[in-house]
Amino acid sequence: MTDKIPALTLDLEQDGWQTSKGFIKRDVDMPVLDEAVNSSDALSVIVKIQYAGMCGSDRGIWNRTAFSDMFKESLVAETKSLRILGHEFVGEVVSAGSQVENLYGIKVGEPVSGDSHVTCGRCFQCRVGEQEVCQDQAILGISIDGIFAHYVKIPAKNLWVVDNDRVRPEVCALYDPFGNAVHSLSKTDVRGARVAVFGCGQIGMFSILLARQFGAAKVIGIDVNQANLDIAKELGAHETILIEKSDKKNDYDVDRNVVDEIMELTYGKGVDVSLEMAGFNSSVNNAIASTRFGGDVILFGIKDGEFMIPDFSKMIVKGITLHNVIGRQIFQTWQTAQRVLSDSTNGVQEKIWKTILKGGNDTIIKLSEFSPEDMEKKMAAHPKLIFDIQN
Ligand SMILES: [Zn+2]
Ligand SMILES: [Zn+2]
Repeated sequence: MTDKIPALTLDLEQDGWQTSKGFIKRDVDMPVLDEAVNSSDALSVIVKIQYAGMCGSDRGIWNRTAFSDMFKESLVAETKSLRILGHEFVGEVVSAGSQVENLYGIKVGEPVSGDSHVTCGRCFQCRVGEQEVCQDQAILGISIDGIFAHYVKIPAKNLWVVDNDRVRPEVCALYDPFGNAVHSLSKTDVRGARVAVFGCGQIGMFSILLARQFGAAKVIGIDVNQANLDIAKELGAHETILIEKSDKKNDYDVDRNVVDEIMELTYGKGVDVSLEMAGFNSSVNNAIASTRFGGDVILFGIKDGEFMIPDFSKMIVKGITLHNVIGRQIFQTWQTAQRVLSDSTNGVQEKIWKTILKGGNDTIIKLSEFSPEDMEKKMAAHPKLIFDIQN
């Protein structure tokens, strides 16, 4: 009989995509390495998960508003119905396939985080060092089983060995989303730039910290939630703009008040760089409309369905460059993230821990105490939550 371990899951047959909400805690099989049965296990490890982050995309799955196709199609391909969720983690390698140390230098007992995108290694992009846009990639907790479980089997090539003396484990669990912000900010030079961050959720907050760190002259945070804007200010945003309910006709319409305010703050020019981190259609259009002629719009927020860009020709006439960001550059982004997080003089790690994670006060949830009602409350109250998986 296989051992069972607790996990946060979604079963499309038992729970259904539309007929359920949130995550369902149930026991799953303990993963094992068995190279005789599965030759790829030689390249995999079993990680005992310590902390796991609740991502914006996990919120999308919680509410069933994002990744539905990827979720469903991948389960059909695997001929099963249950998915273990989650992709942001820190833990310890407890067993390793026979080739892992040889190929990756990773040993049993080491603390690790890792990239959530499992790339194919064979396609054109993988072969030329652009793994983030691998055409045959799987994402932990979405299109393959994830990490909200006591133990998880992961390809060793995805792991990033962490140093808990330099970065506390709760923050190490956030390398993956912090890396999304690092990757976004690496698309264009923000030194001396005026930067607007549309959507001050977790990755928007990281983007504000990084824009300051990388030398932006003015950072403007925009959100519908005043509490998020208060945190954005604490993290170093020079200005914040609350999106208030407006009388827009369509959900893709620009929020005129927001754009006017940004124009005023930039002396009629618009910002040099807009980062769209929320994924709402109107937010994308706010970002485009608030960017100066020749500026850059970095799109990271993601939602299912069609988006509408009114006045499309205006964007071309303004000569705006659009960048679409997915995942992290493996491992350039990780290297930069580690340097920023482990320099105690820049205050970034401390702000993530004390301001975004509120020093762990009410933001760390023991897996044994998980309840959907409690999660709903905490998701409404805090930008970032972490699961304490073993407790
Ligand atoms: Zn994430
Ligand atoms: Zn590939």
